[in-house]
Amino acid sequence: MQRPNFRLRTYCDVLHVNKDRDNTRATGVTYVDAHGDLHEQPAQIVILCGYQLSNTRLMMLSGIGEIYNPATGEGQVGRNYTYQVMSDVDVFYDDAYTNEYIGAGALGMVVDDYNGDNFDHSGLGFIGGAYIACWTTNARPIENQPVPEGVPEWGAEWKSALQKNFLRHTSLSVHGASMAHRENYLDLDPVYKDRYGRPLMRMTYDFTVNDRRLSEHITPIAADIARGMGGREIKVNSLDASYDIWPYQTTHNTGGTIMGASPDDSVVNRYLQSWDLHNLFVMGAGAFPQNAGYNPTGTVAALTYFSARAIRYQYLRDSGPLVQA
Ligand SMILES: Cc1cc2nc3c(=O)[nH]c(=O)nc-3n(C[C@H](O)[C@H](O)[C@H](O)COP(=O)(O)OP(=O)(O)OC[C@H]3O[C@@H](n4cnc5c(N)ncnc54)[C@H](O)[C@@H]3O)c2cc1C
Repeated sequence: MQRPNFRLRTYCDVLHVNKDRDNTRATGVTYVDAHGDLHEQPAQIVILCGYQLSNTRLMMLSGIGEIYNPATGEGQVGRNYTYQVMSDVDVFYDDAYTNEYIGAGALGMVVDDYNGDNFDHSGLGFIGGAYIACWTTNARPIENQPVPEGVPEWGAEWKSALQKNFLRHTSLSVHGASMAHRENYLDLDPVYKDRYGRPLMRMTYDFTVNDRRLSEHITPIAADIARGMGGREIKVNSLDASYDIWPYQTTHNTGGTIMGASPDDSVVNRYLQSWDLHNLFVMGAGAFPQNAGYNPTGTVAALTYFSARAIRYQYLRDSGPLVQA
C-alpha cells in the first residue's frame, strides 16, 4: 500500500470481468463507483477476491467457464457448493457462573478425535467427521438465548428462564464436514435481479444423507461429554430436518469455483488460476472441492499465499497457464 502506484478504491462494486475477443485473457473489470458512475479498469492480471459467493457469481456474470447444470452434470462454475453441518448441546448449571459473555472468539477446547479420518468409519455409512468444541464467543445476546428443554420460545416464562440461565450455561458445538453433492450448487436466479439488473445468485442446497448420518453419529458423542460436565441438565439441538437460512449455523460457504487437476472437473488449478483465462486468479473458499470439518479461513489464507507466490515468482516472469490442461 505504500507504493506510489497503489490505489485503493472504496465503495466500488465490480460488475464483471472483461475479456479479450479470443476468450483467453481478462482485460480488466467494469465497476460502479460511489456516485454510480461506470468505469472500466484495464488490467494485466485480475484477481477475484470478493468472497466465495461473489467470486462465483462474478464468474457467471462475466461468462467465464460454463455454469454447472445438475441435470447433465456439465459445467463447472457453481458446482460443489458446500456448507457446514452443525448441531450443539447446551449444558445448564445451577451454581456455576460460566460468564460466557467474557470470552475471546477463539478461546476454547476442541475434541478432534471424530474429525476427518481420525476414527474408524467401518459400518457407519458416512465419510468425514466433525470437531466438538467448547468455547466462549462472547455469548452474543441476539444469537445466544439458552433456555432448557420445554421452555416456550417467547413470553414471560421464556424471559424468566433466560434470566436464570444466561450466566450459568455453556455449550458444545459439533462442527461437521459437508461433502459435495450433485444436487447442491449455485447458479444465476432466473427471476430476481440486483439494482443493476443483473441476476442474483441462486443457491440450491439441502443437507445430504452423508451430512445427516455424520451428525447423528457425532452429536450423541457430544451429548455424552456434555452429561459429564457436571451440569443440572443438557439440551441437544440436532441438525435441522432440512436446510434453512434462518437459524445461524456457520458462514462457511465453500465451492463454486473449485480447484482441481483438470478443466474437466474444476474451475481453477492449484495456483487458483482460471483454466479459461490464464491471467485471472480466483481466491477464497470457492476453491474447496468440499467443506472439511474445520473452519475455512486459515486454508483460504494459505492458498492465497501459495497463489500470490506463484504469481510473483512464476507468472510475472512467464505469463501463461501455470499448469498445462
Ligand atoms: C459472523 C461470521 C463469523 C465467522 N467466523 C469464522 C470463524 O470463526 N472461522 C473461520 O475460519 N471463518 C469464519 N468466518 C468466515 C470468514 O469471515 C471468511 O472465510 C473470510 O472472510 C473469507 O475471506 P475472503 O477474503 O474470501 O472474503 P471477505 O473477507 O468476505 O472479503 C471480500 C471482500 O470483497 C468485497 N467485495 C465483494 N464483492 C465485491 C464486488 N463485486 N466489488 C467490489 N468488492 C467486492 C467485500 O466487500 C469484501 O470486502 C466468519 C464469517 C462471518 C460472517
